[in-house]
Amino acid sequence: MPELPEVETVRSDIAPVLEGGRITDAVIADPRLVRPFAPELVAAELVGERVEAVDRRGKYLIVRFESGRVLLIHLRMTGSLRHARSGTLGDDPHRRAVLTLDNGADVAYRDVRRFGTWELLEPGQLTGYLAGRLGPEPLGTMSSARLGARLAGRRAPLKAALLDQRTLAGLGNIYVDEALWYARLHPQRPAGGLDADELWRLNRGIRKALRLGIERQGASLRDYARPDGESGGMQDEFRVYGRDGLPCGRCRTPIAKTRVGGRGTHFCPRCQQAPEPSAAP
Ligand SMILES: [Zn+2]
Repeated sequence: MPELPEVETVRSDIAPVLEGGRITDAVIADPRLVRPFAPELVAAELVGERVEAVDRRGKYLIVRFESGRVLLIHLRMTGSLRHARSGTLGDDPHRRAVLTLDNGADVAYRDVRRFGTWELLEPGQLTGYLAGRLGPEPLGTMSSARLGARLAGRRAPLKAALLDQRTLAGLGNIYVDEALWYARLHPQRPAGGLDADELWRLNRGIRKALRLGIERQGASLRDYARPDGESGGMQDEFRVYGRDGLPCGRCRTPIAKTRVGGRGTHFCPRCQQAPEPSAAP
């Protein structure tokens, strides 16, 4: 599933294609993408809109139009945007939508499992829409004190708290596991129980994992690819994710796999010490 680094890679690849272009034709072939609205209706609304900027917030792509409207794209499990440099898109049975621009470019949306969403928001709606769904961005000005304030009082396991998009926006299963390894924190530690040093390590670990992911242009495992079809390279940088049984890069202890909050979770049992069992009553 695309997380912050994958979505950011898509954004930076597709922004130069979309920005400044006016949509001259829109085809939405899958009603699930825009439900409860009719695909023809949304497509007709998109035609004529001129793209001002392509931004990202958490795992959302934000296509801002000059009109003040916004197309909010969430890739969910397997969504991706495609743009052929040659100008011609090849056949693709998983293509769900195509936008044609007045600069001659076609931008296609493909989605194998069809959980992705396109939402057309009217001017002024975006802030309220995102406010209830997303916490702050983990890069930029995030500090360990601010991170601590977001985790304070929470008894949920650290991993579950970090997967909650209202804690921080953009983390998912891969980058949480990687961040916790960098931070040397066990995924089952109670989220509200970290001291100042641990919070500092956590903030640093999150930034390190995400920055590396952006630098390597995302992780290509099953479905994620960049808009030009190329793979990212982050999968070669994984320290724990998908490495169960392989030696930890720091201490050579085999990486373990468990489940936390229903999600497959990878960690080093030596570098990331288990939480103290709570005192027996
Ligand atoms: Zn280790």
